[in-house]
This record gives sequence, structure tokens and C-alpha cells, in this order.
Amino acid sequence: MKHGWWKDWRLDPPGGHRKVLLHSCCAPCCGPILEALAGEGFELCVFFYNPNIHPRLEYELRKKENWRFAEKLGIPCVDGDYEVALWMERTRGLEWEPERGQRCTVCFDLRMERTADFALAMGYPVFATSLGISRWKDIDQVNASGLRAAASRPGVQFWPFNWRKKGGSQRMIELAKEERFYQQEYCGCVYSLRDTNRWRRERGRPKIQWGLRYYGVPNEPVPEKLPQENPKGE
Ligand code: SF4
Repeated sequence: MKHGWWKDWRLDPPGGHRKVLLHSCCAPCCGPILEALAGEGFELCVFFYNPNIHPRLEYELRKKENWRFAEKLGIPCVDGDYEVALWMERTRGLEWEPERGQRCTVCFDLRMERTADFALAMGYPVFATSLGISRWKDIDQVNASGLRAAASRPGVQFWPFNWRKKGGSQRMIELAKEERFYQQEYCGCVYSLRDTNRWRRERGRPKIQWGLRYYGVPNEPVPEKLPQENPKGE
């Protein structure tokens, strides 16, 4: 672990609590947050609840990478249910929404609601999410979902911290290369996969293949941005 890079972060969760449930979307996004919170002695648990991810192979790859790094830091992980049918039901009618649109709000809402429920059930007074660290996501949209989920659940609070500032984005890229994290190439759902593949097809580029690319692996080009952040794979 690279100690101290987070020194300019003011890690001050609501209520001054030191016990935090961190919803994780993937290892590259979650990694720097875990480093910082573990480094500051927080009592942590990672909650991987992402029924949006399609197909199952991609879901398992992202989860495995997340587990590998959390276990390296001695942080417990919980596997949320892969409730694909529920996710499809909640996003019905929003299939052609653009990224950052209404489908993403529904997607974030479901993930934050389940995280808040788990936090309550397991006695975590605060929950947060790694979703907002990506510069290609709308952090206000992510945080609004977290705050909405907490508002209807007395006893648990959402921590809307801006993880991407003051070194967070830079550490995200460094750590992905150091740890050779799996390199996802689209946001996650079947619709983002469809749209990214269409964009690639129009430019004569090959379709996405799962399980092939890892950050920092020799002979692989290492991008300056995390492709997961960019729906067009740029
Ligand atoms: S594009 Fe990403 S955030 Fe939006 S619905 Fe799909 S998986 Fe969820």
C-alpha cells in the first residue's frame, strides 16, 4: 500500500463514525478508497452489489478483482445478490437512455437502496460508494441516489465524499497499473455494452471481448484514462 497519498482528503464521515460500509462497483474505482480508509484505521466492509453488470462472466471478473485487493488489505467483502431480473424490471422502458440519463439514476438508486438496507441490517451507521470516483460519471447523480436511499432509512447515513479530488483520480490510475487490475471496457449493463460495441463497429474497431485486458500487463497499451470511465472506450 502506498501510504499517505490521501493526506489532503478530509475523511470526516457523517456523525463522526469510523465504521463504514463501502459499496464497490469494481476494483479500479474501489481500490484507492480502500487504501485511504484502511490507512486511516476505519472499520470497513466492502459490499459488491452490481446486478447491472452483463454478462455474468464480466460480473465475476470484476468481483474477483475486487475481492483480491480487499483481501490483500484484510478487509471483509460481502457478495450482494446478482438480481438481474430485478435490475431489468427497474430499468424497463429506459433501454435507449444515454449514459448519465434516467436509466443510470434508476441503476444507482437500486444499488444504493440495497447497500443502505445491508448497512442497517449489519449495524453500519454510514455507507459510501466508489461509483462517484470516476470522472465519467455524474457525481451529483450518484450522490443524489445515495442520499435518497438514506433519507428513507432512519439509522443509516450516506457519505457523499468526492473521492476523485486531491489525488484520488491519479491514484486510481497508478493503483490499477500496480495491481494489474482487470480492465473493463464499458460501464457494465447490457445497454452500455450494446452502445459501446455499436460505437466501435462504426469506427471499424473490434467488439469488446471479456477477460482479455489487464492494466500494466507487458505489451498491452496502458491508457491514461480508465476505459471503464468512458463509454466509448476512448
Ligand atoms: S450505463 Fe452504467 S450506470 Fe447507466 S444503467 Fe448502465 S450500468 Fe448502470
